[in-house]
Amino acid sequence: MPTSFMRIPYRDLLPPPAIIPPSATTLSGAITALQEFFYSPPPPGLPPSTVVLTGAGLSVASGLADYRGVRGTYRVNKTHRPIYHHEFISSHETRKRYWARSFLGWTTMSMANPNSGHYAIRDLGRLGIVQNVITQNVDSFHPRAHPDIPTLELHGYLRSAVCISCRNEYPRDVFQTELARLNPVWKEFLKEAISSGALETEDPNEKRSRGIKMNADGDVEVPGAPYTTFRYPACPTCLTSPPPLADGTKGVVEVDKDGALDSRSNAGILKPAVVLFGDSISAEVKHAADRAIDSAGRLLVLGTSLATYSAWRLAKRAKERGMPVAVVNMGGVRGEEAFFAGLDPKQAGSQGVRTEISTESLLPALVHEMRKSEARSHHDPPHGVSFERANPAEVLKDFLS
Ligand SMILES: [Zn+2]
Repeated sequence: MPTSFMRIPYRDLLPPPAIIPPSATTLSGAITALQEFFYSPPPPGLPPSTVVLTGAGLSVASGLADYRGVRGTYRVNKTHRPIYHHEFISSHETRKRYWARSFLGWTTMSMANPNSGHYAIRDLGRLGIVQNVITQNVDSFHPRAHPDIPTLELHGYLRSAVCISCRNEYPRDVFQTELARLNPVWKEFLKEAISSGALETEDPNEKRSRGIKMNADGDVEVPGAPYTTFRYPACPTCLTSPPPLADGTKGVVEVDKDGALDSRSNAGILKPAVVLFGDSISAEVKHAADRAIDSAGRLLVLGTSLATYSAWRLAKRAKERGMPVAVVNMGGVRGEEAFFAGLDPKQAGSQGVRTEISTESLLPALVHEMRKSEARSHHDPPHGVSFERANPAEVLKDFLS
């Protein structure tokens, strides 16, 4: 029986997709198919609104790496190995390594911005099409780009560090300043790495040529400051008042004279507010994701191969509810044949769409066309467009009433 634990997803490339309808291979064909998808009457008993499910592919145009794309982490950096939840919780050494890596990576992350794909989702909300977004991304681009459309962040967010004892959250920017204060050699190194551009690439060879040495695990080696010397702070709340542990004893929160957490500590440990591999998604988030799917009549999947179970099961749930599914993703999607099973081969998008055009070129162009159609519909006779788009059963009811 599958669980909702975050596992290392498949690293293999998935087979290329069958484009649906076949005309969706071109930009204009894909736009027409998606308009058909949005404007066709929903299946009986389902609402006309669309829920969006996104992944790393949507953020590629913001300069962030995805996993399986052309420049994706799994293709470029073969030695990449993420840190597991249980290692993070139980090992001071693992936390040093995580925060050291994160210290170097945060600058790139914090300077990146939402892209045209995110803003197109905002516009689809304004057009009354999209009412909920579920994302696997931890970059906070959705809430930044469209604060008016609710976003469920399935795997958490990097903008905060959270205490594993008291659950208080602290802004990542403030935490970064603390890391810099506690690790002056790393702070200097980071300054140099930013000016050499070495942090802007995931390619180990390119990094090396710009003066950054990587070890066999794909970690950066800072000359004169190995990982073992990296220091990170304690949760300020738990430091003031150590929390009780699960067994009823008082937790130990010890720091050195500068405020860096001591290895004897077993509480007040700060963790990124994301779901690490091997951890599970909270029941609350899981149920909210189910509700978002269940309250919509269509699912639009953007920039994800659905390789993680937590995301894939939502698409499966949508299909089982009879919701038409549209997928915009470069490369194959896990088990995608199932999402398009039983479609009428002649359908033009109303039952499902599969296209491989990049989100940052397709979505803004789609919004542009939809605005033109909206503007045209205001000049049409009042019933012209709505009759075309109405559910035949609804029209019949109108005639009978
Ligand atoms: Zn705490």
